[in-house]
Amino acid sequence: MALPDEDTIVAFPVGDLTATATVLHVAPHADRLAVFTDRTSIHPVDHAWPDQPADSGVLRVDGREYAIRDAVVAATDGDALHIGDLPVRTGTAGWAFLVAHLVDGDAGIGEGDEVELEADVATRRALSAGHTACHAAALALNRAIAGRWTKAAREDALGSPDFDGIAIATSRIEPGGSVDRYRLNKSLRRAGFDANGLAGGLDELAASVDDVLAEWVAADARVRIERVGEHLTDRRSWVCELPGGSARIPCGGTHADSLGELGGIRVSFALDDDGGTPVLVMTTRAGAAPAAA
Ligand SMILES: [Zn+2]
Repeated sequence: MALPDEDTIVAFPVGDLTATATVLHVAPHADRLAVFTDRTSIHPVDHAWPDQPADSGVLRVDGREYAIRDAVVAATDGDALHIGDLPVRTGTAGWAFLVAHLVDGDAGIGEGDEVELEADVATRRALSAGHTACHAAALALNRAIAGRWTKAAREDALGSPDFDGIAIATSRIEPGGSVDRYRLNKSLRRAGFDANGLAGGLDELAASVDDVLAEWVAADARVRIERVGEHLTDRRSWVCELPGGSARIPCGGTHADSLGELGGIRVSFALDDDGGTPVLVMTTRAGAAPAAA
């Protein structure tokens, strides 16, 4: 069977855990088998911005069940098939972008099989909570750190200078939280961000971010994903109806339905160093605060 010529249809952005699908192609990949289907509920890790890890889950066919060891994005131009490490930017014309489900190499799965895909609910919930907390914390950080800008900067959806969007280097979603690294480099300082004395005020910064987050969690701000189509590369946005307005962040991941669902969001900060460039590290945790002893 030929390689798929259309992007995989994805059900995870609307929160689906299961999908019934047809196998379009299988290909060996190292000691595993990459399984390509017309649709999937399994969130793959993105090669360009690998913030949210892949779902864990299973693939069922004819009463047999195979563990999905990993899920990555693949691309094909009809001739070559690249799995995980892509030679083109996502969305490049003439290429189809696919979810590759990696199963054990001896799995009995073939083209044309009707399969059921199911993402593990506990992993999905924990990563969704972590991803939602990550975006809320980024917006709260923008607000809490706004006083350090001495020049006008690009604004976020709530009107604060977009420190997160301007300084972010990497974002890693974990079960129930996230770790974001912000580079405090020369160009950020030239743009008007004053990092003087930040090292001595990390606990105060965390307290003011936590205050904003507590207000938003108490308001049980609704969260949804908006998308222009059902395919893997169709543009998607995280939208959150915060008390200060509707916030929108481009996002390919999965999310909770509201901030209240998380029970609470708290952050902590540390300063790190990346080859001489200071890096502000924000660690975010979703969940109710531990009861005071
Ligand atoms: Zn996101």
